[in-house]
Amino acid sequence: MMSEVMFDQLIEKGVEEFLAEEVIQWGLEHFKDGLVCANSLGAEDVVILHMLAQLEATIPIFFLDTGLHFQETHVLKKAWEERLGRSLITLSSTLSLEEQALQYGERLWEHDPNLCCTLRKVIPLRNYLADQKAWITGIRREQAPTRRHAKKIEWDANFQLVKLNPLADWSTTQLWNYIKEHDLPYHQLHDQGYPSIGCSFCTRPVKAGEDLRAGRWSGYEKTECGLHGHG
Ligand code: SF4
Repeated sequence: MMSEVMFDQLIEKGVEEFLAEEVIQWGLEHFKDGLVCANSLGAEDVVILHMLAQLEATIPIFFLDTGLHFQETHVLKKAWEERLGRSLITLSSTLSLEEQALQYGERLWEHDPNLCCTLRKVIPLRNYLADQKAWITGIRREQAPTRRHAKKIEWDANFQLVKLNPLADWSTTQLWNYIKEHDLPYHQLHDQGYPSIGCSFCTRPVKAGEDLRAGRWSGYEKTECGLHGHG
């Protein structure tokens, strides 16, 4: 298992200058086993899927299935699985939605979204990452104030492993230029005003001038699922 001390010995100067593909390559070289990629099929995630394919990286790619995603998300997932020639690993809660409703009340996302995210996202992810050394995510500093300090390669104190954020310094323009240039399949809801897409009940389109993640848990203090947080 990785520790923060081991990570400090591993990390080199200059990694912040790495291009996105070089961040992934660094992860592949340092964590032959134990490097995994989170993927929720957002715009950032399809770029990373493409980069992994270009690098011929066969690391596990996982999708956190809360059971509450938009239908379009599943359609896109299937399209990418066909394109990649392999299935994404599905992580889900051991608690079905019916069991969750019985134990914690109907529509938990409305009266306690933090608990709902903990049950449906954080616990399954924590269990999975416990056996890994490093994970790749699609977070970008520009997405939200909570992500503005994200480094390209960092120690994830929350889940106790190394975290690679190859797109940390990418702008939204850069992201979409890449998607268009490579003609990548992307989430249909991005064209309907949703820059960030999560579960259907907790995501709305954003208005002009709003934060890119303003459509997530709109009306609540909450801005993150509990998977990422950089202060
Ligand atoms: S995003 Fe909403 S529905 Fe999905 S797990 Fe979190 S609170 Fe529940």
